[in-house]
Amino acid sequence: MRSTEVKIDLRRGRAACIGVGTELLGNNKLDLNSLEITEVLETFGFDVVEKRVVGDEIERIATAVRDLMMECEVVVVTGGLGPTADDVTRKAIAIGLGREIEFDAEVEALIKKRYRVAGRVMPEVSRSMAQVVAGSQVIHNGCGSAPGILVHEGLGLLAVFPGVPWEMREMLNVHLVPELERRAEGRMRRSRTLLLGGVGESDAEQRIHHLYDAFGRRNVSILASYGVVRLVLTASGEETRVEARLDQMENAFREILGEEVAGTDVPGLAHAVVPRLVETGMTVATAESCTGGLVGAALTEVSGSSAAYLGGVVSYSNQAKEKFVGVAEEILIEHGAVSEPVARAMAVEIRERFGADWGLGVTGIAGPTGGTEDKPVGLVHWAVAGPSGVEARHRVFRGDREIVRQWSVNAVLDLLRRRLG
Ligand code: ATP
Ligand code: MG
Repeated sequence: MRSTEVKIDLRRGRAACIGVGTELLGNNKLDLNSLEITEVLETFGFDVVEKRVVGDEIERIATAVRDLMMECEVVVVTGGLGPTADDVTRKAIAIGLGREIEFDAEVEALIKKRYRVAGRVMPEVSRSMAQVVAGSQVIHNGCGSAPGILVHEGLGLLAVFPGVPWEMREMLNVHLVPELERRAEGRMRRSRTLLLGGVGESDAEQRIHHLYDAFGRRNVSILASYGVVRLVLTASGEETRVEARLDQMENAFREILGEEVAGTDVPGLAHAVVPRLVETGMTVATAESCTGGLVGAALTEVSGSSAAYLGGVVSYSNQAKEKFVGVAEEILIEHGAVSEPVARAMAVEIRERFGADWGLGVTGIAGPTGGTEDKPVGLVHWAVAGPSGVEARHRVFRGDREIVRQWSVNAVLDLLRRRLG
């Protein structure tokens, strides 16, 4: 008696996902369903402790279900519920749970009706979808024909959805969310992301690591990506207290990081910069070389950017830098295209040509070829010209061509962000 009680306690709040499908084991298809399922599970305070991807093999699926149900309160399986011969999940669940599988005429009638409504006749193979795991709850598929399954076993819950992402999504929201809500009993998990610009991962880590103790190492994760760092703050507990806890965390991190913080829950630096420009009624134009238009692309990704972004020139050749941006030939000859004076001139001239409040210039060597001893691959100069003059920076970024270009975009957007204040 006692040992079961202990096991039940250990399972509580733990969850796992199983992706079924041989195609998920190949080299061109990933189990993406589990990302969405995890998001929902975490929202209700569940810890996802394991994910498995299993081919369309009865025994393997059965083993995965058995193993994970022993350790977790909630297990979510997707895939293999359809009518074709490789869809064996139903049978595998029955074996894994040691239950019978039985034909359910009511379920068959429902499937038939679905076909009828769509003006079709149910193919004979689809009868297999009316095979039901004994004692399970058959759940309606609002977007397709294969029904899902919910099985309650003591504390445990097994949810089985089709693999098709939109069918899975609909059933997840309609059938699993209410279950999780009930189990969570007001226990929620929410996160908030602070976007940092112009600061390295280790530098950020150095400055904030003492806060890990205050808020718990597991509640703060730091993700760096080429010129931006994301700090994901997480709080769990009673629903009403979670937001207050997140406010407290955000304030503590902002206090330490100051102007390094570009915004809260913004997807990228452009999303921090554009609203700021729009708010203050200011405009920007771009002159890009090594980024080939990526700065303009990042700015125009933000809805409403037309109020702030006037346009730009992708001036890849020296000729284009002269003719379409207005960089003086002498500067190009004397310093070379990848140089601080050229970056400055690009920013100043493009601002002038477009009549913008701000001008951005980027020039660099994205590589992998084209580097020299004094101008190595990854060297990038960027500049921001504004009402109070022009400022330039440079760095040698490490990484492949795409990475250097990504760094460059973030670098120039961050300089603009800081100057906007
Ligand atoms: P049905 O056969 O009724 O369409 P099913 O439950 O049998 O549903 P599958 O045949 O396994 O589902 O998968 C259907 C589609 O969904 C396939 O295109 C498959 O690649 C995709 N899919 C399956 N599982 C996943 C997953 N975990 N992540 C992303 N896509 C998936
Ligand atoms: Mg299928």
